Amino acid sequence: MINLLDFDAAGLKALLADLGEKPFRAKQISHWIHQRLSDDVGAMTDLSKPLRERLAGIAEIRGPAVISDATASDGTRKWLLDVGGGNAVEMVYIPEDDRGTLCISSQAGCALDCAFCSTGKQGFNRNLTTAEIVGQLWHANRALIADGVSAPSVPQREQGVRGGSGVPFDAPRVEQHRAPITNVVMMGMGEPLANYEAVRAALAVFLDDDAYGLSRRRVTLSTSGIVPAIDRLRDDCPVALAVSLHAPDDALRDRLVPINRKYPIATLLAACIRYLERAPRNFVTFEYVMLDGVNDSVGHAHALAACVRDVPCKVNLIPWNPFPGAEFRTSPRSRILAFQQVLAGEGFVATIRKTRGERIDAACGQLVGRVHDRTKRTLRIQPVRAAPIMH
Ligand code: SAH
Ligand code: SF4
Repeated sequence: MINLLDFDAAGLKALLADLGEKPFRAKQISHWIHQRLSDDVGAMTDLSKPLRERLAGIAEIRGPAVISDATASDGTRKWLLDVGGGNAVEMVYIPEDDRGTLCISSQAGCALDCAFCSTGKQGFNRNLTTAEIVGQLWHANRALIADGVSAPSVPQREQGVRGGSGVPFDAPRVEQHRAPITNVVMMGMGEPLANYEAVRAALAVFLDDDAYGLSRRRVTLSTSGIVPAIDRLRDDCPVALAVSLHAPDDALRDRLVPINRKYPIATLLAACIRYLERAPRNFVTFEYVMLDGVNDSVGHAHALAACVRDVPCKVNLIPWNPFPGAEFRTSPRSRILAFQQVLAGEGFVATIRKTRGERIDAACGQLVGRVHDRTKRTLRIQPVRAAPIMH
């Protein structure tokens, strides 16, 4: 059986063409799946009965199988989703007054092995399919609506931040449906740009006005810095970009984010500048995880300011979230504030990420799901240890 969650608009049109149907049928079907959040091909009453019957014979709308579902006292909710073969991934809903954000996973595990990340420590099993990625948003909206969660009040007219960028300026949007999820961040398990084609198609569905209709500025992809894929995304589907920098120089970044050995900082920053030519926001967000005694000194803050000087950016400082067996410590609050002050003094907007969902281990880098590692972790390039404290 085909899973209709696997198709973006172009894919649905091609499927309908194969069935000898007109392209507008694809739009109708997309409305049923992604706006009415239907799971029943037979219920698509504006399709002809013969088409419904043919479709029902070959296709289904199959969302994720939920293993567990927990809500923290701050309203943060985490689902563990079965993706077969003994693997499971996690997604997290973060409610705020003016938005509902869903943090989505893109891979079962991650092969990139960043030293401070629990997903990385688990190894890698496989890429998620488009249906498994889109199915996260589809399921979260359905589950929240079923629980009576109403949509946050989203301004109907969103101002774009730049013009003449080659990308359609954010048009005024009329709310077509009242979905609780207004923002998507690709910041769950996995490196989204290492699963490029499935992620690109999923992003297309998130943005499609006949599907979820999210503005490009409300969809953020976070990457550890796979440079050729950043360029592809710029050309195919530019959404808001967050880059996991975490260190101001190559020697330290090589240790924390091993992909840096392939795409060093200068190469990465050049890709960020190219990306901004098409990006929906006129800045890149640099994520910087605060690791006690490793990358969090005032000297590191000055070095970071110098390092990113030429890139229009904001810096998001992430207090490191612990997980069992990790060899790091979270920077003390005072050091995070001092780091932020240095950046502010150098003219940067630097924010500190709020930690949400603590009791249910739903914070950044705590998502573990269940991964049957297929990589040989014993062949790691080199073990990484926390460096001595440098002040
Ligand atoms: N693979 C992508 C996106 C997923 S991780 C990436 O690396 O960007 C989302 C963010 O959480 C990244 O900035 C990542 O570096 C950070 N992160 C990973 N482990 C963390 C931890 N234990 N505490 C805080 N942030 C962490
Ligand atoms: Fe993978 Fe991102 Fe974790 Fe690095 S931080 S191991 S790229 S999920």
